[in-house]
Amino acid sequence: MTPREIFMAALTRDRVPRPATGSATSIATVDLMDEVGTFFPEAHLDPEAMTALAEAGHTVLGFDDVMPLFSVWHESAAMGCAVDWGRRDLMPTCREHLYAVGDEIVIPPDLLEKLPARVPLDSIRMLRSRLGSDVAVCGKVFGPWTLGYHMFGVQDFLMATILQPDAIRRAMDTLKEVTVRFGIAQVDAGADTLCLADHCTRDLCAPEAYRDFVMDIHRELVDRLPVPLIVHICGDTSDRIPFVADTGVACFHFDSKVPAPDARRLAGDRLSLMGGTSNFSAVRQGTPALIEADVAEKIGAGIDIIGPECAVPLDAPFRNLRSIADEAKKPR
Ligand SMILES: [Zn+2]
Repeated sequence: MTPREIFMAALTRDRVPRPATGSATSIATVDLMDEVGTFFPEAHLDPEAMTALAEAGHTVLGFDDVMPLFSVWHESAAMGCAVDWGRRDLMPTCREHLYAVGDEIVIPPDLLEKLPARVPLDSIRMLRSRLGSDVAVCGKVFGPWTLGYHMFGVQDFLMATILQPDAIRRAMDTLKEVTVRFGIAQVDAGADTLCLADHCTRDLCAPEAYRDFVMDIHRELVDRLPVPLIVHICGDTSDRIPFVADTGVACFHFDSKVPAPDARRLAGDRLSLMGGTSNFSAVRQGTPALIEADVAEKIGAGIDIIGPECAVPLDAPFRNLRSIADEAKKPR
């Protein structure tokens, strides 16, 4: 089987000759940028630079997939958020908010032609043509909960889930169309799968809020996006993994705050699991022995796709990511 076939089979828990290895979030580190000779912020806004850095996820690190959207801001910037695209050792940020809760949100008709949306679409096309059918291409979209943070600011958004829940429901109904349009465009460009990142993490979203505001929308996104979805939520998600399993998504990309055996138990047999390897103890500081033990523990717990838990720290050494991929592929 090719790396792509292994990755796609692991997403649906089909039979694989070895565990898959990869990430649904950024694998960019400063030393990987040095290795490739392409850097942030260009790798967010220039399709050639973005493609070169993403391709290194397979050619340098050895993962079975590549994923070119390194930041969280592409569709929000295309919506009009004033993003500061950072520098080589700093991820992009945005401090101004586009809307106040209750405002009518307007999706620009040319959303997908705006530079921050067009660049990753071009890059997915380039990755598909350069890597052929050997390597899985993973796109990434944000769900309407995260887009709500971006449009209104985290504080105002979260307050309004309590004080103006109907306004938040209306906003999320509009924002989910951004997720769908950007997602379908990525699939048309050649993405095999999409990361659906939605930061309804435990410290910012009670399990009831996840169930009441997010779950039905994720279910709808499973129906409307024509590829297997990988839901990514950071933090301790043990109280909502059963809800995630219930939405019908293919795979859950989980954080090391959930021990791998617990994640598998809560996910049941159908939901594929990815990640769970700590960005701090393993990716940033891991020794070869620690990484070997960590990967063995993940495989033993029934994790389907071995890799980092979330966007890797920019100051991590890329050789640790390569060691994770090597360990996952080691004959056993
Ligand atoms: Zn995350």
